[in-house]
Amino acid sequence: DRLVSAGAEDAERAAEAALRPKRLEEFVGQRVVREQLGLVLEAAVARGRAPDHVLLSGPPGLGKTTLAMIIAAELGTTVRVTSGPAIQHAGDLAAVLSSLEEGEVLFLDEIHRIARPAEELLYVAMEDFRVDVVVGKGAGANAIGLTLPPFTVVGATTRAGLLPAPLRDRFGFTGHLEFYDDDELEQVLTRSARLLGLDLHRPAAVEIARRSRGTPRIANRLLRRVRDWAEVRGDGTLDRAAARSALEVYEVDELGLDRLDRAVLQALCVRFGGGPVGLTTLAVAVGEEPETVETVAEPFLVREGLMGRTPRGRVATTRTWQHLRMRPPENAPT
Ligand code: ADP
Repeated sequence: DRLVSAGAEDAERAAEAALRPKRLEEFVGQRVVREQLGLVLEAAVARGRAPDHVLLSGPPGLGKTTLAMIIAAELGTTVRVTSGPAIQHAGDLAAVLSSLEEGEVLFLDEIHRIARPAEELLYVAMEDFRVDVVVGKGAGANAIGLTLPPFTVVGATTRAGLLPAPLRDRFGFTGHLEFYDDDELEQVLTRSARLLGLDLHRPAAVEIARRSRGTPRIANRLLRRVRDWAEVRGDGTLDRAAARSALEVYEVDELGLDRLDRAVLQALCVRFGGGPVGLTTLAVAVGEEPETVETVAEPFLVREGLMGRTPRGRVATTRTWQHLRMRPPENAPT
């Protein structure tokens, strides 16, 4: 959402949904998770039983929602979608749970943001396939236990570490999604171009892949921006020159860093002299929530060696100074 304005968001979401792989074999990369999850699903199908609950963790845009849909497809069942922030009361969750059909997949996005009272209800439902519904009020209130048909929760979180241990323990399988390498992103782009009927030149795919922050969602988004540029400013050809020009217009730099990434690095070096600086202070400086900085910007910056984490806070690295074309102060903690 950081590359588009709010008004365009629905169109972007629809475009995204159209490009989702439908089956596990179409899902690019993530070899380990794909193999492990494949086994879990195949075994469940062979037994004719719902598989263990599945937890997927990793930064935004790496394929958690896509995998949840794939899990349902591989099991030959349907998926019900909700999210942590949508469940503020235990009753919200009870209503969803009690309407589940046998074998259905319940996708709980941003599961770490589910409200406390609902969390307790979720433990019991996941463990014992039971939900206690309170009927009536005051002295006459009564808890009625409902038995639920077997179902599978697929939880997604940008931070597995934020989940309370009892909730984490109820997932029989946890898959951690990693950033994609350039070859994998090129495969994602080639596949998307084919689905969209676009003639994407290989050097253009290489260029876009290299600047997609290791993230399929960003790769697909940049592909659409390059197409826009080629149709409006160019002659419709999706070649390397078109890719470079479009990426320049959208201020995606050589490393694929976007505005938030750059703001974080700027603040780290310019305002805080290279750190160490605490996460919250850094977030305030760029006008974002600490959680956004920590889950959206930081994982990629750390992976690229552009930011270090120390017990005393975030620090700039030699590479950070180089990237910003700045000279580190004498006492900078690189
Ligand atoms: P998340 O739920 O982790 O934020 P999504 O599952 O919504 O991410 O993925 C974002 C987009 O990226 C999807 O629309 C999908 O088209 C694409 N995508 C993600 N992972 C893959 C993959 N492994 N192969 C192909 N496309 C992918």
